[in-house]
Amino acid sequence: MVIRDEIIILTIKFTWNFKGESKMAKIIIDYDECDACGECVDVCPMEVLIIVDGKLEVQHPEECNECEVCMDVCPNECIEVEED
Ligand code: SF4
Ligand code: SF4
Repeated sequence: MVIRDEIIILTIKFTWNFKGESKMAKIIIDYDECDACGECVDVCPMEVLIIVDGKLEVQHPEECNECEVCMDVCPNECIEVEED
């Protein structure tokens, strides 16, 4: 049912936004190990991460939902997400 699906999606978005506003995640990148492969960028559902001029940057930390998918896919284990 379309309306019900939309309510569920809005509820999920509200939960993510509420979490982001109350506690901003701290995203720590070990630049000695990061080779800017972009795998974390590709999987991040909130578009928190971006590669700029060959370097990984955190563009929207307030949007992070702490799903930790970026940590799971990183081949160099050089990104960490913590609650601030
Ligand atoms: S997946 Fe790991 S190595 Fe690749 S850009 Fe992200 S933090 Fe850097
Ligand atoms: S924890 Fe999830 S939302 Fe946050 S930066 Fe990593 S992949 Fe993106």
